This record gives sequence, structure tokens and C-alpha cells, in this order.
Amino acid sequence: MRARSCIKCREYVLIEPSNPNNIEIINKFEKEHRGHTLITSNFEEIKGSYKPYGKEEEQEEKEE
Ligand SMILES: [Zn+2]
Repeated sequence: MRARSCIKCREYVLIEPSNPNNIEIINKFEKEHRGHTLITSNFEEIKGSYKPYGKEEEQEEKEE
């Protein structure tokens, strides 16, 4: 599996060609990280050191 990652923020989004919503997520990711260094790599290479982007399912507010 491949991932689009931002080196600066150390965030990634998985590239899922079979998922039509994935393109939107990638576009959003690229927009948010405009001006940063984005790379496409194998997920294995960034796994563990990068954090996942766009956990939109969990939109609960976290009060600290
Ligand atoms: Zn970034």
C-alpha cells in the first residue's frame, strides 16, 4: 500500500485507488499541507514514525 505524506508535519494519508472518497481526502490533505514537502512512498516506510491524517469519524470534542 502507498501513502501520501508530509515530511514537515509527519502526517500521512493512505492512497486507496479503489475508494472513491480517497481522492477527496488526498486533495484535502494536499491543500492543508500546501507549501510543505509532500512525498508518495510505501506505507511500510513511514509506518510508526508518521501519524494518520483525517480521522473524520471521531469528531468528538476533546476538552482538556
Ligand atoms: Zn504539512
